[in-house]
Amino acid sequence: MQKGEKVFVAGHRGLVGSAIVRRLDSEGLGPIVTRTRAELDLTDRLAVDRFFADEKPAYVFLAAAKVGGILANDTYPADFIRDNLLIQTHVIDAAHKSGVKKLVFLGSSCIYPKLAQQPIKEEYLLTGALEPTNDAYAVAKIAGIQMCKAYHKQFGMRAISLMPTNLYGPNDNFDLQKSHVLPALMRKFHEAKAAGQPSVVVWGSGSPRREFLHVDDLADACVHLMRTYESPELVNVGVGDDVTIRELAETIRDVVGFRGDLTWDTSKPDGTPRKLLDVSRLHGLGWKAKIGLRQGVEQTYAWYLANVAGK
Ligand code: GDP
Repeated sequence: MQKGEKVFVAGHRGLVGSAIVRRLDSEGLGPIVTRTRAELDLTDRLAVDRFFADEKPAYVFLAAAKVGGILANDTYPADFIRDNLLIQTHVIDAAHKSGVKKLVFLGSSCIYPKLAQQPIKEEYLLTGALEPTNDAYAVAKIAGIQMCKAYHKQFGMRAISLMPTNLYGPNDNFDLQKSHVLPALMRKFHEAKAAGQPSVVVWGSGSPRREFLHVDDLADACVHLMRTYESPELVNVGVGDDVTIRELAETIRDVVGFRGDLTWDTSKPDGTPRKLLDVSRLHGLGWKAKIGLRQGVEQTYAWYLANVAGK
């Protein structure tokens, strides 16, 4: 990927896509091509084909997806499987037909079996039953990985699949019902502090363990692997370390400066007990995460204060 080569970032307004655009910009890569949903509906096959035939990007980061937290996935599984299958099928196929040099497909750590051995190695894919709260989304993402492999095998397409762990950072979704745990808790603590509330409700038991990667780290890994990785075998992208939801909640409470208590709502699901990625393959490819959780939460809270709170 050289300066002057056209790069299409699908999903550039989202958490991941916006971080990839920032990362490309920081090195002057591009021209970067983007389209809003109103300009290009990625679930519309003909529109996607036309876009690729006209623009002919050299590189594609496929960061457009319908994503959400545990409750959204559990409540709207049809939306998650339909939209993701359509978006990825259209983009990968059109990228192939228009002759892109390389495509990065982004999946998720929820593609792995619910009770996978920890830390989770790439080869555990398709070795057990999925976590039921997000199996529709996971099956769509698994189909995307297989599609990249199949296009590589049949057509020689250079399409690589990266599986990020739980992500957070600027442009995350802070909706209390639909978002993931980290932005949800940031907003809950912020609003509770502002309103002088005595406590904040946190879902589940607090005991599940999750790994959190700052999206700027992910974007850096995406660019590194776009440049250096060729195999259709997937690569986990994580930090190699996890925390309990209780520890996460306490870190965010500290950063936000809320002095009250945590109350646990155990009527809400815990989801999978642990989801820690094995990152040896990634480290072997010469990349390591740099942003620690505390530092990343502080940076994200500063962004939240400047861009979301009170708006
Ligand atoms: P998951 O990693 O797919 O399970 O997705 P989430 O990020 O939505 O949830 C991670 C864990 O955090 C689950 O055990 C949730 O029950 C727990 N959790 C605690 N409080 C919240 C909250 O306010 N919102 C969300 N989304 N999850 C929460």
